[in-house]
Amino acid sequence: MNVLLIGSGGREHALAWAISTSPLLTKLYCAPGNPGIAKFAQIASIDVANHAAVIIFCQTYDIQFVVIGPEAPLVAGLVDDLKAAGIKAFGPSKFAAQLEGSKGFTKDICAKYSIPTAAYGRFTDLSKARAYLNRRDAPIVIKADGLAAGKGVTVAMTMDEAHAALDNIFSGRFGEPDCVIEEYLEGEEASFFVLSDGIHTLALATAQDHKRVGEGDVGPNTGGMGAYSPAPCMTDAMCTEALEKIVKPTISALRDMGHPYVGILFAGLMITRAGPKLIEYNVRFGDPETQALMVRMRDDILTLMLATVDGALDKLSVRWRPEFALTVVLATSGYPGDYVKGSEIRGLDQDFGKDLQIFHAGTTLNQGKVIATGGRVLNVTALGNTLHEAQRRAYEAVAKVDWPQGFCRRDIGWRALNI
Ligand code: AMP
Repeated sequence: MNVLLIGSGGREHALAWAISTSPLLTKLYCAPGNPGIAKFAQIASIDVANHAAVIIFCQTYDIQFVVIGPEAPLVAGLVDDLKAAGIKAFGPSKFAAQLEGSKGFTKDICAKYSIPTAAYGRFTDLSKARAYLNRRDAPIVIKADGLAAGKGVTVAMTMDEAHAALDNIFSGRFGEPDCVIEEYLEGEEASFFVLSDGIHTLALATAQDHKRVGEGDVGPNTGGMGAYSPAPCMTDAMCTEALEKIVKPTISALRDMGHPYVGILFAGLMITRAGPKLIEYNVRFGDPETQALMVRMRDDILTLMLATVDGALDKLSVRWRPEFALTVVLATSGYPGDYVKGSEIRGLDQDFGKDLQIFHAGTTLNQGKVIATGGRVLNVTALGNTLHEAQRRAYEAVAKVDWPQGFCRRDIGWRALNI
């Protein structure tokens, strides 16, 4: 079959790499894609925000299946529009995508279905939000309701910070003021990925990422500076508990609401002393976690995605390579603050060995040269028999990339390696 993949990051490069090996694939297209993806897919220059243009492309190129990488097209209802045009697509409907698109939507489901999460209040009125906040103490967490590109959450260590975060949300910076104020959870964070066809679930794998820019998890938040899989704190028992108490009740809730959840559900968990609690849902694969997941997956991702859309997940299982995978993100100096685009990256053509992949996240090709165009630019992903070995291999490969304007965290995996 012909498949169209939507997206242009490291996550989509990893998905393209995995999909390209599928026995079900005839031809892979990707929009907007990147130079790494171009090795596996024909790049399509479509404006993916223009759903009619995506549909026309699918009709013209006989696309039978569309895989959507990022959250924005899902929240905008691309799956609904493709479905209405008779085109199968992997990902949740606009309604179900509210699990990521609205923090309040998810919290209200958690409250109704007794899903373990932080205690919270939801407000569209500043004076009520302030009154709620004044009855509590720091640390406390303030969240803008909608998609905010990772900038809508403040983990406030003081009440001043908390009030400033409220002011920021009610200034309209994130659109119509709507916020969640929630209890600060203590524990270790982990990412848990589960496929759902609306009725059945299939747990995929676990990972941990590194959101802060600085070593030791300090400094500003980023899109993610590295990840590894599996997450040692997500034991089989912990995965079962998270699946039974958090993910399955959410899938039932969406089904009860008349909008079955179809796609990948990425649960961001805090493993507290009282067990796993939900921090947030994402309605798509994680970036950079997917890069670590795809190199470990032994079964065909396209078969799994099709079974998800066809309601046939009960007939499938998934096998993983026993090794650990670890991804180091190479970013442009200055990221996540201001940075200069346009520097050249050399050395990507050499042989890095069979268990090493370099996924492109923010690059372009200019007269045969690879040029950095984004904040997060490359994802160096290695497999190893131990996490330590995967880490060593990833950093050995990083050292071979000739890019003076780039940087990376030197401690990806530290939390798991220090146990
Ligand atoms: P989110 O966008 O909801 O994942 O939040 C971004 C980050 O803020 C998470 O990855 C956590 O590190 C942190 N965070 C969010 N909610 C809480 C919470 N209730 N307690 C502690 N940390 C949190």
